[in-house]
Order: sequence, then structure tokens, then C-alpha cells
Amino acid sequence: MSGGFVPVENFEVGVIGAGYVGLATGACLAHLGYQVTCLDNDEERVTSLGEGKIPFYEPDLDELVSRTVSAGRLSFAGTDGLAGVVRGADVVFIAVGTPQGEDGAADLSNVASAARQIGRSLAGSPPRERPLVVANKSTVPAGSGDYVSMLIGEGAGNEDVADFLVVSNPEFLREGSAVYDTLFPDRIVVGADAREPLETMRVLYEPIIGQTFPTQLDPRPKTAVPFVSTDLASAEMIKYASNAFLATKISFINEIAGVCELTGADVGRVVNGIGLDGRIGMRFLNPGIGWGGSCFPKDVAALRAAAREYEHETPLLDATVAVNERQRRRVIQKLQGELHTLKGKRVALLGLAFKPNTDDLRGAPSLEIAAALGAMGARTIGYDPVAGKAAAKAMPDLKVAFEPYGALDGAHAAVVVTEWEEIRHLDLSRAASLMREPRLLVDGRNALDPGAVRKAGLRYAGFGRG
Ligand code: NAD
Repeated sequence: MSGGFVPVENFEVGVIGAGYVGLATGACLAHLGYQVTCLDNDEERVTSLGEGKIPFYEPDLDELVSRTVSAGRLSFAGTDGLAGVVRGADVVFIAVGTPQGEDGAADLSNVASAARQIGRSLAGSPPRERPLVVANKSTVPAGSGDYVSMLIGEGAGNEDVADFLVVSNPEFLREGSAVYDTLFPDRIVVGADAREPLETMRVLYEPIIGQTFPTQLDPRPKTAVPFVSTDLASAEMIKYASNAFLATKISFINEIAGVCELTGADVGRVVNGIGLDGRIGMRFLNPGIGWGGSCFPKDVAALRAAAREYEHETPLLDATVAVNERQRRRVIQKLQGELHTLKGKRVALLGLAFKPNTDDLRGAPSLEIAAALGAMGARTIGYDPVAGKAAAKAMPDLKVAFEPYGALDGAHAAVVVTEWEEIRHLDLSRAASLMREPRLLVDGRNALDPGAVRKAGLRYAGFGRG
């Protein structure tokens, strides 16, 4: 027992939203011994999960889901099952999408609908011994916790119901390593305006905080994970500030890379020199085509929009975005530098997902680059180890090859868009023999060795590399 709450192994948990975050959270909590139900309003998704099929590519997740389902600790339901889950649950997570709305602000409609559903479920439930903790994992602007509380109260038909308490529990996992990041996070952040739900969340996460669970995933010695307990609005802001900082770090090094190109300095060596400074660090200093993905673009936009609401200017974030947009144009300029007109030229895009080890195309730079090339009359053919099918659907004009050499065959140029291991280890001589003059390789991630590329008979254009 801890803090007067039920023993950790008896917690019952509901997770609304069975996407990258909800499913990883649900499967990991089930792995830790909790009884978990993941609910989704996408019936097809619920059916396919029930058949043991994970609706997206995420390493280790299928195995964890299958193990925890077999152990009887993880199950799936449509949102019509929410009332039953709420009745027995200690904690219900909201992990639904918060896409970018018009004007850049976060679209909270999924969160609002989940909150109302929780309220309606509470209204039909018998009185509870302890308030239900509603933990919001969706990324939302500071202050949204109060809005969620209000909507749950409205849904319950009584805004003063004392049967629930809302906490913010922002998520920091990275697609491609979602299971690892959930079990071995750098920190767990929970914000609430009352002590009791913070304690429930601390107990829930105790196995992770103390690293007291069996796993073969991480051979490192176990160290305690910081549990950051704070107020609601600060927890919500921590998520936006984290992503905005990381995006800014990338834009910063891209700005430096541009100056390196002009002055003859090598950005890789510069990163090594500055990154060894403990105050700076090596990570997120990778120059190239810039940031994208399901979170950075929308979260930076939402933070700027939130500031605008208060007539607060955000010149640093504005510049972060402007530099990123410039990086996309730099790809086109590098192609033009060797190919001149792009009309009729064949360009291979190597990697389409927004990063390696995921099939997620949300905010993927490949979409923007393919659209820009298409508008200029280039013929674009893409390849991705896992996101090919989804890319063909998202970009009807993009031809998709089944293997990288199929994309390179007859191409005047290739762009490394996503640095999958397979693409880092391309057979460069084979690529050169398949491509047409000028055989240009634009390394959008500075992922290849320029010397090796040139030796194979290709022209090389990286970002800021001497
Ligand atoms: P996702 O699109 O993969 O999954 C969201 C799921 O919620 C979908 O399956 C959708 O059908 C379901 N859903 C939407 N409304 C619903 C409702 N009312 N009831 C039940 N189900 C509903 O999204 P995601 O990538 O998992 O992101 C979820 C949240 O977590 C977002 O706010 C995102 O910004 C944040 N986040 C995402 C990541 C990431 O890497 N994907 C990392 C950190 C934080």
C-alpha cells in the first residue's frame, strides 16, 4: 500500500484513444501489471486491435500488446464501453489527437468529446469511494485542464460533481521508440491543482519511477526516474515548451549550417565542438531539411497561437518556423544548383515517413518536398521501408517504389529525406550505376559519408558540410 491508495497491482485503467500514445501507454501499463482497457471511437481500429493487428508501425508494440492481451491485462473497446470502464477505473487517460486547427491553434474537439463522454459515464455510475483521476495525455494549451473539468462536469449533468479530478500528464514519447520511452522516460510530469490525484499518479507510475519491473529492453543499471509534480497549467506548458525548444535547437543548427556553407566551416565539426559543452549537448543538433512530424509543427503553431490570444509576440518561435521553411526550399535550390530546370527531371525521395522507425506521415517533409517538386514539373518517385503504401495514398501524384533501387533507377537526383538504416547503408555504387547524369545525391539528413558517395561516382550535396 502507498499513500492510502490501493496497491499498484490492483489499479484499473482506461485509455481513451488507441493511437501511438494511447496504445503505447495502455500496453506499457498492462505490462506493469495493471488492468487496462483501451477505447477508441474508430470502430475499424478497435476491431483490428481485437484481432491482434496494430494499426500502425511501432517497434516492440505488437509484441507487448500481444503479451499483455494474452495475460488478460489489456483489452479493447469502442467508446460505448466507456461507462463500464469508468465504473471500475481508478485512472482514465485521455490520449486523443489534438491536430492543428485553422489559425494554428490546437483543435480540442476530440478532447472535448472524450471529456463529455467521461462525464456522461460518471453520471450513470454508482457513487465512488475515491474520485476518478482523469489524466490528460493529449497535448493541449495551458489552461485546458479547467476546460476539461468543466466539460466532464457538464457531461455528468452537474458541474460540481466531486467524483473526478483532472490532471495533466503530458507525453514525451518518440514514435519509433514509444515502448522504450514509456518504460524509460527522462521524467514523468504530472500537474494538478490538488494533492490527492498527484499521489494517485505517483503510485500508478511507481514501477517506472523506481524501475521495479522486469524487462529485457534496457540493460542499463536502473536509476530512479524523476517524478515532476506541478500545477495543471505548468504541466501543460512544459509539453509545448519542450517541443518548441527542440524545434528551435534544430532551426538554430540549420542557421549555423547555412553560414558554414558560405564560410567553408564544417557544421559536423562545429556540432562536435559545441555539443561537448554540457550546457548545450549533442542532441537535436542535426542539420538538414528541418523538423516535421506529428507534433513539432502543430505544437509550435499552437504555442504561437496561444500567445497571440494574449497579444504576446513570439519572435523567436516565428524565426524557428521561418528557418525551417527555408530548409525545405534549400532542398529544391540544391537540386536546381545541379539539375537547373526541374521540369521533366526524375527525382527519387529516399524515405517518406517523418522519421525512421515509424510509418507516420503527419507533417512529413517528404509531403512538402514532393508537392514542391510536382509543382515544378519534376517526376518524383519515393521509397520507404514501411510508409510506402500510406504515402501513395496521401500523395496520389507520387510514384512509390518497392525498394530504394527501384526509385533510383533512371533518376537524375535523389534526396535522402528520412535516414532509415537501410538508406544510410545504400549500395552507393549500385545507385550510381542506376542513376542518370548528373547523379546528384542531396543528403537531407547529413546521414551519408560525402567521401564514400563521391567515390561511388555520385555528386554530393549535404547541409553545411565544408
Ligand atoms: P493518434 O492520431 O495516433 O491517435 C488518436 C486516437 O484517438 C485515434 O485512434 C482516434 O481514433 C482516437 N480518438 C479521437 N477522438 C476520440 C474520442 N472522442 N474517443 C475515443 N477515441 C478518440 O494520435 P497520437 O499521435 O497518439 O497523439 C495523441 C496525443 O498525444 C496528441 O495530443 C499528440 O499531440 C500527443 N503526443 C503525441 C506524440 C506522438 O509521438 N505521436 C508524442 C507526444 C504527445
